[in-house]
Amino acid sequence: MTVGPVYLDHAATTPMRPEAVAAMLPYLIEHFGNPSGSHSVARRAKQALEDARDEAAAALGCRPRELVFTAGGTESDNLAIAGVISRRAGRAVCAESEHHGVLHTVTALGGVVVPVDAMGLIDFDALSSVLAHGDVAVVSVMLANNETGMIQPLERVIHEVRRVAPDAVVHTDAVQAFLWLDVATMAADVDLVAISGHKFGGPKGVGALVVREGTLLAPTIHGGGQESDRRSGTHNLAGIVAMAAAMTATVAQRTATVARVGGLRDRLVDSLLTNIPDAIETGDRSQKIAGNAHLRFPGVESESLLFLLDEAGICASAGSACASGAIEPSHVLTAMGISDDEARGSLRLSLGSTTTDEDIDLALKAIPDVVSRLRGT
Ligand code: PLP
Repeated sequence: MTVGPVYLDHAATTPMRPEAVAAMLPYLIEHFGNPSGSHSVARRAKQALEDARDEAAAALGCRPRELVFTAGGTESDNLAIAGVISRRAGRAVCAESEHHGVLHTVTALGGVVVPVDAMGLIDFDALSSVLAHGDVAVVSVMLANNETGMIQPLERVIHEVRRVAPDAVVHTDAVQAFLWLDVATMAADVDLVAISGHKFGGPKGVGALVVREGTLLAPTIHGGGQESDRRSGTHNLAGIVAMAAAMTATVAQRTATVARVGGLRDRLVDSLLTNIPDAIETGDRSQKIAGNAHLRFPGVESESLLFLLDEAGICASAGSACASGAIEPSHVLTAMGISDDEARGSLRLSLGSTTTDEDIDLALKAIPDVVSRLRGT
């Protein structure tokens, strides 16, 4: 039985897994120590930190010492890009469809933004010509897009960077990918990999960056020298322990979750395309993560659509969540060549590991009705 609203905004944030909550509680209560200290309470905390590091490293396929704990995906992206640029000459490069955590970091550092094709995938001719310029220090291409769910051909990106600019470092924002994709394998040859706890059942405000051995990186947060001097600040121990537990659960359940939720997503999208005239699916479903449904309804404003859906008990989104709450045409969709008008009529329904058949039934009852009301049909 679904109680409360139907939550289809898991790409914005997804509920904490029970395993993560259970793992976290002792570190909020009795084991509250600061892992940087030296007495017994601190040593207990330090042990938990290093156990969590081992656990998270296993889930990401890296060495424990290659893992830097941060306060989330945005910080990990900033650390990756700005951290490389502070250590070496050269420019930062990213795709136009990146999350703002990457895009704004690259542009703030005077970097280069490479266009994407109609599917939102990086334009390889443009990437190669930027790389051939010879002054590229870091290339950042996300694994899965937060709005469209499209999976970038990361292996081809790595191949191209190694071929044309072998000294450049590759970063991937795997924040939306970790719940659905085998990041350990897909990003095995990537130098820097960012994840965020609250996208896969861990808490908000905690994340990690994989920094492969030999990758030169300067800290962006200076202070007490925690995380082997790569990220200062007292550890969010309870958050880190919970994130590691969520990672283990995610990896253990991933194959089953992808199969089950992918089936729900297909039923949802197929039915909406059949029942809503002129509905358009964004991207190519065969190249998307299993939890993403993205549609456009020409003639409809997403702001009104989201308002009426909320009233009907469906929580959805027009694109990425942003602090202002204002709905601008999405930079991801416009980069794909979709007109502002059409981009304004977009709806992202993002499913998660707690999404049920009943959620989909309720969404399928509400959405066609609301679109038809808005169109006056
Ligand atoms: N990167 C991507 C692709 C995201 O979807 C998000 C969050 O929406 C972030 C980075 C930022 O992560 P955080 O919310 O942990 O700062």
